[in-house]
Amino acid sequence: MNQTAINTTDEPDIDGVVIHLHARPQLQGKNSIDANFPAVVVTSCDSLPLFGNALIKRVVIAPPSALAYLEALISNLPLGTLYCHTCQHPHLDLGDFAKNPHKKHFCGNCGVDSNWSKEPIVSSPLSELANKLTKNPDFVDSDRILDLRDYQNCQVKVWSSTPAVLWTSDLPQEAGIHVHIYQDKRKIVDDTFGQVTWFDGSQLERDRLLATMLDKTKKPAA
Ligand SMILES: [Zn+2]
Ligand SMILES: [Zn+2]
Repeated sequence: MNQTAINTTDEPDIDGVVIHLHARPQLQGKNSIDANFPAVVVTSCDSLPLFGNALIKRVVIAPPSALAYLEALISNLPLGTLYCHTCQHPHLDLGDFAKNPHKKHFCGNCGVDSNWSKEPIVSSPLSELANKLTKNPDFVDSDRILDLRDYQNCQVKVWSSTPAVLWTSDLPQEAGIHVHIYQDKRKIVDDTFGQVTWFDGSQLERDRLLATMLDKTKKPAA
């Protein structure tokens, strides 16, 4: 998620939501890609079909579907991938539908409104994709500690870590507070911490940072 929770630099957050992608060629390897994209396309091949409907060869991960999925994931809502019984498309819940698990789903592709899931769920093609591609579902809390009182006169950007929409590494994901520290416009710290002390001595709380970030994604871009 590119919206910061706190930003004391004079550089504004990127407008709107983009997809942040890290791709590493091997374990612990150097990032070969670490950048923002307007969307990411995942392509299925015959040896590894990605979807229950083998006719679907590619899925576009665009910000609205990634954000809806991420929010449902963070809120621990029941997620699944429901296929339309008429057109066989994987059903995508967005907006309020992604916040409220439901049984009766309206197909955005063909318009049929009589798709029923057994239990109330939020449906996203990303759910099936994540189930297929996730090798390590574990999270570890960062044990690094940061005291910003050691960085007076520096600027910071702060994010809560969020789960990846897709995580295909063998390593667990790291949870914590992600901080960039800038001195004279130069980035001197870029890391994830388990504990962050603010400039005034108070502790930052990961849950509150996350709530602020989610709020910001709802504001229309200026
Ligand atoms: Zn639905
Ligand atoms: Zn349909």
